[in-house]
Amino acid sequence: MAIFIDHNSTTPCLPQVWEAMRPYATETWANPASSHSPGRAARRALEDARESIAHCLKAWPNEVVFTSGATEANAMAMAALQPGDAVVTSHLEHASLREAMRLLEARHVQVRRLSRAPAGVIDPEEWKLLFDPTVTMQTITMAGHETGAIQNVVELTRMGRLGSSGKAQVHLDATQAIGKIPFDFHRLEAASAAFSAHKFFGPKGIGALLVRRGHHLPPLLVGGEQQQGRRAGTEPVALVVGMSIALQLAVEAMAARQERTSKLRARFLTGLKSCAPWHLLGPMDGGLTHTLLVAFPSVRADMALMALDLEGVACSTGSACSSGSMLPSPALALLDIPAEWHKSVIRFSLSPFQDETMIDEAARIVSRVVHRLREAPP
Ligand code: PMP
Repeated sequence: MAIFIDHNSTTPCLPQVWEAMRPYATETWANPASSHSPGRAARRALEDARESIAHCLKAWPNEVVFTSGATEANAMAMAALQPGDAVVTSHLEHASLREAMRLLEARHVQVRRLSRAPAGVIDPEEWKLLFDPTVTMQTITMAGHETGAIQNVVELTRMGRLGSSGKAQVHLDATQAIGKIPFDFHRLEAASAAFSAHKFFGPKGIGALLVRRGHHLPPLLVGGEQQQGRRAGTEPVALVVGMSIALQLAVEAMAARQERTSKLRARFLTGLKSCAPWHLLGPMDGGLTHTLLVAFPSVRADMALMALDLEGVACSTGSACSSGSMLPSPALALLDIPAEWHKSVIRFSLSPFQDETMIDEAARIVSRVVHRLREAPP
């Protein structure tokens, strides 16, 4: 296996999580909607997991709606918007929200986007300027998947409410935050919050939308009364159990994992010194402790990624590849960096389960590749 330093794209399912899921695929496998006793046993497991998830996130169990992941959860949250509404957002959002907004624009929802966020951090005063009383929603990506920046959700929410005379509800994309930083759904006063289990060492294909009591959302999927009619479809009990256990482990070990990844991150940065110049684009401190977004001027990130892959290092660019050309990620435009760096950005995201030797080796390989590409004729 390559040295995998792309953990914001996904994480492996921990072996103990996978083992805990197994009985719910092979023994307690009945449909949790069935009223017979095997069905009731599956329902008990599902509801126990829902309770545990709610407890970890400081929400009520009936505020947890299971989905296939954060993409679906984000789409579900956007269903609250109607033609004529206005929503405030930013280009820091993941494509699942960004593209959902584009569809909404075609349905005559006005979308207002923040245009500046140095180091990926939104300034509450600049945020406030986007609001007026026609705004009914604000979306905030609590922790950036690219920069690792953590937003001051309470302050941004307050500013949004002030600017909209209290009208703007909050949708949080908490996908990179949950399991990594403390999360209290009720204290954050959000209407909804999306996340995916595979970002915190749980299984892929499961996530949830937290929906505050009293916040009405029309269902995206219909044709079944599951989850109180809010999301039709047989609940995947084993995946939900896996998500609940992975979350519990993540919450219990949060401080230790943060401490571990900040040490590894500092070590990785030290290892990169030999291939200066480079520039850290996210926050130096106060962001996700396992994430680094780095610009290597005069190095093409797509070439670097291929070379790194050949040398056994898996990471990702700060750009989206589209039809063979490198399109800079829209988030980069907010960062106040020279435009010529946009194609030279690489994201490294570490895991608390990696060791120093691995991180040192990754830094050595990155440095070697960066040197080589700088020396290569254009
Ligand atoms: N939001 C953010 C911030 C993300 O990082 C991701 C995944 N990269 C998603 C949403 C979508 O999650 P999923 O692919 O699990 O649906």
